[in-house]
Amino acid sequence: MNLTDLPQTGLAAAFAAQRSAFAREPMPDAAARRANLDRLALLLKNNQQAICEAICADFGHRSHTETRLIEIFPSLEAIRYARAKLAGWMKPSRRHTGLWFLPGRSEVRYQPLGVVGVIVPWNYPLYLAIGPLVGALAAGNRVLIKMSEFGPNFGALFARLIGEAFPPNLVSVVLGGADVAAEFSSLPFDHLLFTGSTPVGRIVMAAAAKNLTPVTLELGGKSPAIVAPGFDIKTAAQRIGFGKIMNGGQTCIAPDYVLLPRGQEEAFVAAMRAFAQKLYGDAASPDYASVAHERHYTRLLALLDEARSMGARIEALLPDGAISGRKMAPVVLLDGTPDMRVMQEEIFGPILPVIPYDSLDDAIAYVNERDRPLALYVFDDQRGRVESLLDRTASGGVTVNDCILHIAQDDIPFGGVGPSGMGRYHGPEGFKTFSQQRAVFRQAALNGSAILHPPFGKPLAEK
Ligand code: NAD
Repeated sequence: MNLTDLPQTGLAAAFAAQRSAFAREPMPDAAARRANLDRLALLLKNNQQAICEAICADFGHRSHTETRLIEIFPSLEAIRYARAKLAGWMKPSRRHTGLWFLPGRSEVRYQPLGVVGVIVPWNYPLYLAIGPLVGALAAGNRVLIKMSEFGPNFGALFARLIGEAFPPNLVSVVLGGADVAAEFSSLPFDHLLFTGSTPVGRIVMAAAAKNLTPVTLELGGKSPAIVAPGFDIKTAAQRIGFGKIMNGGQTCIAPDYVLLPRGQEEAFVAAMRAFAQKLYGDAASPDYASVAHERHYTRLLALLDEARSMGARIEALLPDGAISGRKMAPVVLLDGTPDMRVMQEEIFGPILPVIPYDSLDDAIAYVNERDRPLALYVFDDQRGRVESLLDRTASGGVTVNDCILHIAQDDIPFGGVGPSGMGRYHGPEGFKTFSQQRAVFRQAALNGSAILHPPFGKPLAEK
């Protein structure tokens, strides 16, 4: 699509402004990129309280400390890491040159792509905007960000803060519902990174395909935790509990369900309940997040109702206390069957099905018969068995003997596989995702490729 084909108003005008600014300045140097990252860090440091308040208001309730720990701190770390590594990432990389082409030289140069689009969901609205933004700015791009309509307070705050920190032709925030989102994903971006659900990911990819815009899709799915025979049940219950209960279970890489050696279910529930009560007391605790919006809350209640009516046992991990609003006490679900929706759909809330297995092979088969997940959690002290489990399963990422923490490692890539997504960001892979990896061969003064020239019948020495 030509830029002139677009109506030059609203979104399209914002996009066109970034495109022409990029054309004027296609290769910002390292100092300019560092300055952009510094502005972003300052924006976060100076507005922590306002960020926590806005996200708390959008969720109904989320502890300010939790927001600092799971959004602000990892965002600042990502910025710090990219800033420190930037010069190395930007350096052209020397590559092997074939014998026949010596003394020519081969290299890969990293050029900015141009204008990058980022679509953000509501569950980690800061971190999932900043993560892609860091990679895209480090790679020298301009960025348009579409926030979720389910986080209106934070969306408005973030648009204002970004507007104060950056010229709109460098970074700009777009607000609006599904109609704006659809228009956004039809813009001819040089790259589009979408974080959200798998069904909407398909729509975004189809829209991007019309422009041949490359996509990174950060999607969802059911991430399993496998507890191997012999692993300490109390430790597993605590670490899985941490991963499931944080942010009210609304984490893309939260353990969705647990596979446990048969017979350990009751011990697991007891250990998780004791852990949850020690941490939170009851579900009214100010440290426990609400379900963030009504549609999602109703969906979670419907999942539980259906499972209960079909024979599942629901074990509450916390007493309700003086619960109000959309808070929902975390539960373990036992005796689930494959025909229940809770066993099929990504749960994305504080419900944890526990599935007993008879052999580790059965547990691996259960995982492999389903869509490839975004994350997999393995709890096992036997090193050889962990290696074999990793070799025999597939997922976007893995944390061994804990949950969630692979996402917090800035030097390893983050992303899904199959229905949980495609492409990677974070660290060097993020820099490359947002860069054009340009192949350059430099011919030497002494032309070494005469062998390629006709007449082909003549020996090289006579050419
Ligand atoms: P969602 O797919 O409903 O919405 C995500 C974003 O897409 C929002 O900004 C929304 O406005 C936009 N959108 C809606 N319709 C669109 C359209 N037709 N075209 C373009 N954009 C459109 O997801 P959600 O409910 O906000 O988030 C929950 C989902 O996101 C879960 O499935 C979760 O696993 C996933 N998620 C994944 C990651 C990850 O990193 N892989 C992180 C967080 C959440």
